[in-house]
Amino acid sequence: MSRCLSERAIDHAVLERGEVAHSWRTERWDSLRLLTPNWQSRLPGFRYRGDDPDGYRTLPEVIEFIGNYAKAIAAPVHTGTTVTSVHSTDTGYLVRTGQGDWRCRALVLASGACNIARLPAFADRVPAAVAQLTAQQYRNPAALADGGVLVVGAAASGTQIAYEIHRSGRPVVLSVGEHIRAPRVYRGKDLQWWMDAAGVLDERYDQIEDIGRARRVPSLQLAGTPDRSTLDLNALSAIGVRLVGRIAGISADGRAQFAGSLRNMCALSDLKMNRLLDLIDEWARANGVAAEPPHRLPATRVEESPPLGLDLTSGEIKTVVWATGYRPDYSWLQVPVLDRKGMIRHDGGVVEAPGLYLMGGPFMRRRKSTLIDGAGDDARELSAHLAAYLDARARLRA
Ligand SMILES: Cc1cc2nc3c(=O)[nH]c(=O)nc-3n(C[C@H](O)[C@H](O)[C@H](O)COP(=O)(O)OP(=O)(O)OC[C@H]3O[C@@H](n4cnc5c(N)ncnc54)[C@H](O)[C@@H]3O)c2cc1C
Repeated sequence: MSRCLSERAIDHAVLERGEVAHSWRTERWDSLRLLTPNWQSRLPGFRYRGDDPDGYRTLPEVIEFIGNYAKAIAAPVHTGTTVTSVHSTDTGYLVRTGQGDWRCRALVLASGACNIARLPAFADRVPAAVAQLTAQQYRNPAALADGGVLVVGAAASGTQIAYEIHRSGRPVVLSVGEHIRAPRVYRGKDLQWWMDAAGVLDERYDQIEDIGRARRVPSLQLAGTPDRSTLDLNALSAIGVRLVGRIAGISADGRAQFAGSLRNMCALSDLKMNRLLDLIDEWARANGVAAEPPHRLPATRVEESPPLGLDLTSGEIKTVVWATGYRPDYSWLQVPVLDRKGMIRHDGGVVEAPGLYLMGGPFMRRRKSTLIDGAGDDARELSAHLAAYLDARARLRA
């Protein structure tokens, strides 16, 4: 957004509570690699120029990449500046920070969609002897106690963390709710290549029937590993991870209860994956794409009667890792634009308050809005809206 505002000669400042790429520096596990290939993180005027376009950036590489971009576009970033409140005023917005106040005519909220880990209310029933942490707090297996680990959530974060912990010698039980299975490589090409080329990632928010639901869909079960292997539930159970259903509660005596829907969840996930692959095959046929022949993955294997409970007081489980999603933090936003779930009411990033914009939300304007690669198109369109808003105001004042 800063780059797009600069292109339009709109005077602006970027306020950041930490350093550039703060969320990547402080809220990710050590071994994380992007699940999007290097070529895919395209930002306005900036694209990958290295010799491994199909590789996946490591965490230090992501931090370097975002830092380099900020330098390349000379973004006017004020680091160490935490926004503590935002109020609307007659002329725009009053932004209070730990480093003084700012007044602006227009304001872009780009504070991230994943500030706070989402936890079920019953998380506080985990017995005191069992450590619990969120995917945001988790760093590496060595920081965990020896012994069993219950990982809750089987989207991208949960499956990657479960794999790494199990490989460290700590037996893992993985609680599986709704998830979307995906092959890393399909017909010889990265799944993200197919989704990008076939236009799946460009699908717009106003073309989707139930956008509320689309915005809540979990991340694809993908991992960016050097060997480009598929990290699905079959891969996890093959190394010994035990799959159980969605966690439904924890009883007062410390017993985790799992839904009996594991088989259905997996069948649904296989179905959704195959629908996506059908769409890709159809697009490849229509566009004469040269690729390996279509194929399908074997169905997800689920044991006959997965356990419906697990005694968290037995000593078998030493740690619970909650990989149950994230939500934004708008506790500092004193403008009445939040719905009853605390999410911002907006139309494709144009917030229901004059001159107020949102960036970085899931499916905000397009399916790819949730990815680094989606920021560019969203910023181009929203900066055009913002410029028109400032022009209209200037005309009014004149
Ligand atoms: C675990 C995980 C893995 C991901 N993997 C990928 C991937 O492989 N590929 C991909 O394309 N995308 C991935 N994403 C999504 C990616 O993080 C987002 O697309 C991208 O970070 C959005 O950038 P952003 O600038 O909108 O938000 P953020 O990166 O969250 O940045 C928001 C910034 O706002 C700052 N901030 C927040 N509140 C305040 C405040 N009150 N005052 C001042 N500053 C504040 C934060 O410190 C932060 O630096 C992943 C996300 C997560 C959580």
